[in-house]
Amino acid sequence: MPKANLDYFIENRHLVLAFLAILKLVKHSMPLFQNATFYISAHHLRDLPPPSGIEVAFAGRSNAGKSSALNTLANHNRLAFVSKQPGRTQLINFFSLGGDRFLVDLPGYGYAKVPEALRQHWQMTLSNYLSHRSTLHGLVLVMDCRHPLTPLDRQMLDWFCPSGRPVHVLLTKSDKLSRNAANHTLQTVRKELNETWGNCTIQLFSSLKKQGVEEAEAIIGKWLFSPEDQVPDAVA
Ligand code: GDP
Repeated sequence: MPKANLDYFIENRHLVLAFLAILKLVKHSMPLFQNATFYISAHHLRDLPPPSGIEVAFAGRSNAGKSSALNTLANHNRLAFVSKQPGRTQLINFFSLGGDRFLVDLPGYGYAKVPEALRQHWQMTLSNYLSHRSTLHGLVLVMDCRHPLTPLDRQMLDWFCPSGRPVHVLLTKSDKLSRNAANHTLQTVRKELNETWGNCTIQLFSSLKKQGVEEAEAIIGKWLFSPEDQVPDAVA
């Protein structure tokens, strides 16, 4: 660097640093779901809002970290209720993102203490919603990276994937595994998704460490705001 430039930088370094800090702030102050506001809750299919616009749904085994992931992506502490007791969220919650775009938080599944009648009700509701909802453009499937692809996760993929619409898997709580173990899980699950279902993408995610936020936003943002430009068939 020429000396004159170096002197200028040293003299004005506080300005340069302030500028860089503002840039960083602007980049992180507009997350994809920043403007999400609660819209409606449904317990039955008949209570769903009439299909209009574009929806992206979040599903996952209860306690997988779905609510935490939603809150992290929304940069909001209480958008989705982080459960003290697993199995508590028993409603389909719609959040409006504006412009006829919706985020849909599906009830967590797989909690052992749910009464059988309720379990059957949710199985039927979820399978119907995932198979037939015309405005549903993509599914984010949240899995604890220590327990991926449970039988019910597979069931969700079986219901949703025949429609040809894309799935993005968030392997959450990645901070709980070593880097090697997390990457090994990522590769193994990716391979199985590719071989069995196709049209899936997958990534590591940690709400605790705020890791994987931009990668998730890029994929979900594309579904919501450039729906004609969908992800390719292969697992990325
Ligand atoms: P949900 O039932 O799928 O909505 O799961 P929650 O978001 O309520 O999370 C279940 C538990 O896992 C809570 O105790 C969270 O604090 C914890 N948790 C969620 N995400 C993470 C994460 O990224 N890292 C760690 N270490 N814990 C997490």
